[in-house]
Amino acid sequence: MSIKFFNTLTRKKEEFKPINEKEVRLYSCGPTVYYFAHIGNLRAYLLMDNLRRVLKYNGYKLKHVMNITDVGHLVSDADEGEDKMMKAARRENKDPFEIANFYMNAFLKDLNLLNVDMPEIIARATEHIDIMEEYVKKIIENGFAYETENTIYFDTSKLDKYGVLSNRKIDDQKAGARVEFDNNKKNISDFALWIKAPENHIMKWDSFFGKAYPGWHLECSAMSYKYLGEQFDIHTGGVDHIPIHHENEIAQSKGFSGKIPANYWIHVEFLQVNGGKMAKSLNNLYTLKDLEEKGYEPLVYRMFNYASNYRAQINFTFEAMDSAKIALNRLREGYIKHSEGNDDVSDKEIEEYEKRFLEAINDDLNMPVAMSVVWDVIKNPKKSKKLQKLLLKFDEVLGLDLKNYKKQENILSDDILELIDKRNKARENKDWKESDRIRDILIEKGYSVKDSKEGTIVEK
Ligand code: AMP
Ligand code: ZN
Repeated sequence: MSIKFFNTLTRKKEEFKPINEKEVRLYSCGPTVYYFAHIGNLRAYLLMDNLRRVLKYNGYKLKHVMNITDVGHLVSDADEGEDKMMKAARRENKDPFEIANFYMNAFLKDLNLLNVDMPEIIARATEHIDIMEEYVKKIIENGFAYETENTIYFDTSKLDKYGVLSNRKIDDQKAGARVEFDNNKKNISDFALWIKAPENHIMKWDSFFGKAYPGWHLECSAMSYKYLGEQFDIHTGGVDHIPIHHENEIAQSKGFSGKIPANYWIHVEFLQVNGGKMAKSLNNLYTLKDLEEKGYEPLVYRMFNYASNYRAQINFTFEAMDSAKIALNRLREGYIKHSEGNDDVSDKEIEEYEKRFLEAINDDLNMPVAMSVVWDVIKNPKKSKKLQKLLLKFDEVLGLDLKNYKKQENILSDDILELIDKRNKARENKDWKESDRIRDILIEKGYSVKDSKEGTIVEK
């Protein structure tokens, strides 16, 4: 069955046709590791994960690169202000390399907690300075760059058209006038490729331009080229990347090889809070750890994201997180229910579910519709291992780790099992006081307690 993606480049939903049927090549813009990722950032990586899982579900092999920006991303995406890593180093009174290591590890841990299917290649900018230098030299050679005292700029006027992705005209950019416009720049949309490092800049490398460091946009072009070649299939990022970062990646690629690097550009919309931006200064910025402290395990946030399409803005509320928590529990309970049943379900019924699920995920990753199929399976009045198996198959895309849920469920320590046993005996003897006392102990130990015909059921 064909897959359709909304392609920002053509502004249309298009059938996906990989360059090489045997292996889909993708590139995802990764984080700048100067602080903890907030849950808005993490939405971008859940999209990346969802895309990977859907492609794999369709039988494709993947070669996927995600970068880690640990140098060169200035405070404004448009090359103004200080390097974010340097700013963080000052804030925390640490070496910028230490900052990068720390927040990169925190980020990778977050992805692991969210059960993100990791790209085959994680490329750190500071480990790819050589290829960046090679890339920038070729752009200069091809006549698409010029030198000022401190910077090598990309000359956007040399392109047939700058702004193919966002469809902007160069003139439009003057409207959003920049605060600090470098007077040495020839055109307002020109951007830095290679920057001479000031004396106090710790992250710098010897190069043809003296001690310097790369511009953020260059990093992605050079690293995608190194691992995926001049042209690959899919490029992902957040919508904020469309007007500057990805426009500049395309410009660089045209200057380097004359080609647009990726055929499909997929962008995830923003997670909002109370209809506005998520920002530290507004005190509405949450990390995965904040959510865990409020009683939401990371997979609840994953579930939360399935309530809307990646191209829609979502508003973050704790009410919506509560609904996601309930939904995840219902899903797990349904999975267990089917695992315990032996009812017969026809192959035709299974095939019908599979078909609907595949249609939904292949329609530009329509997860809300895919979830409605999952709920139909859960609510099927029959209890069947065939349905359990089907849920496991769907979970290859959902990534909710259903397979391991059962294992966790069954692991109850001996003292808990003893308490359950005692409570069941107390209830048999209608000793309600003792039964309540043991229930309270179990609750205190962090278990929920339910009564059923079979006796006490506890859940961590
Ligand atoms: P950064 O580390 O700032 O480069 O951002 C990492 C990723 O998070 C990028 O792909 C951004 O587009 C994305 N991003 C930032 N804020 C949000 C948000 N509120 N919602 C969704 N994605 C976001
Ligand atoms: Zn990038």
